[in-house]
Amino acid sequence: MSVPILELDGIAKTYSVRQGMFSPKLPLKAVDGVSLKVGRGETVGLVGESGCGKSTLAKLLLGLETPTAGRILVDGVAVEGGGWRKELSRRIQPIFQDPYSSLNPRKTVRQIVAMPLEVHGVATKPERDKMVEEILDVVGLPRRAADSTPNQMSGGQRQRVAIARALVMRPEVVICDEPTSALDVSVQAQILNLLLELRREFGLTYLFISHNLAVVEHLADRVAVMYLGRIVEDRPAAELFQGPAHPYTRALLDSVLTPEPGLGIPDTQLGAVFPNPIAPPPGCAFHPRCARAGDLCRTTPPPFDAERRVACHFPLERSSVR
Ligand code: SF4
Repeated sequence: MSVPILELDGIAKTYSVRQGMFSPKLPLKAVDGVSLKVGRGETVGLVGESGCGKSTLAKLLLGLETPTAGRILVDGVAVEGGGWRKELSRRIQPIFQDPYSSLNPRKTVRQIVAMPLEVHGVATKPERDKMVEEILDVVGLPRRAADSTPNQMSGGQRQRVAIARALVMRPEVVICDEPTSALDVSVQAQILNLLLELRREFGLTYLFISHNLAVVEHLADRVAVMYLGRIVEDRPAAELFQGPAHPYTRALLDSVLTPEPGLGIPDTQLGAVFPNPIAPPPGCAFHPRCARAGDLCRTTPPPFDAERRVACHFPLERSSVR
């Protein structure tokens, strides 16, 4: 890979949380030393159960949270110093899960889509109006929609507005955080196809966060699997879907997927429930749910094997899957 457009270098985010009103604060490692490179024009899928840290990672990339440790590099340059939030938001834009809550219902579509341009002081007001109308064309909304408010629109139309807002600044990277999971099934395919078209047209790079592996398989060039704040497998999508090396990835692929929004990954057949991130299991954090766990797994965290692209003491062989 040439210089990645986006690189996470040992990024960590720890929160201090109380389990009860009078109990002491304890550290919760939401993201625990994640390193990930995303090449220009690549679509990387980030998958894992709810609570694995993928949405915190998205917030760190968008400058909505400050990392506890590690660096974010855009085009090989570390994003830091006073203006890092503004710099990130110029080059990286989000599309969030719920177009009902991510768009201000009191603003018109024109105001919503023009906001990033205003924040960054781009162009004059008439020029901004023109840019808004052009980007509405691109996302398949009529220009008259510019004077509507989000509550006059369907879920699919709202998500098109959110996509227009994300693209109006011509970002290099778009963080798609479950962009279709709040939509009707009939609309999901339209939005996914639009994202694919836009990637081609604008040469975009996507980090596509989803619990829906069918969607990720459809879109992603590469897939990173997260478990309890860490990346446990990171491989080309075709390879990973054909023969995952990590037992957790295997379980995710075996799970019965549902198109129901908000249900996460159902029935992973993993037995034990998702662990409490405040008191993660010792050794490999996945060991209480892993049928392959041995003594080593209970005491020693598996390092990420840069060659096999997996963090597991006893990874699956290709011949043992599917
Ligand atoms: Fe399972 Fe051990 Fe691999 Fe963890 S390290 S996934 S417990 S086999």
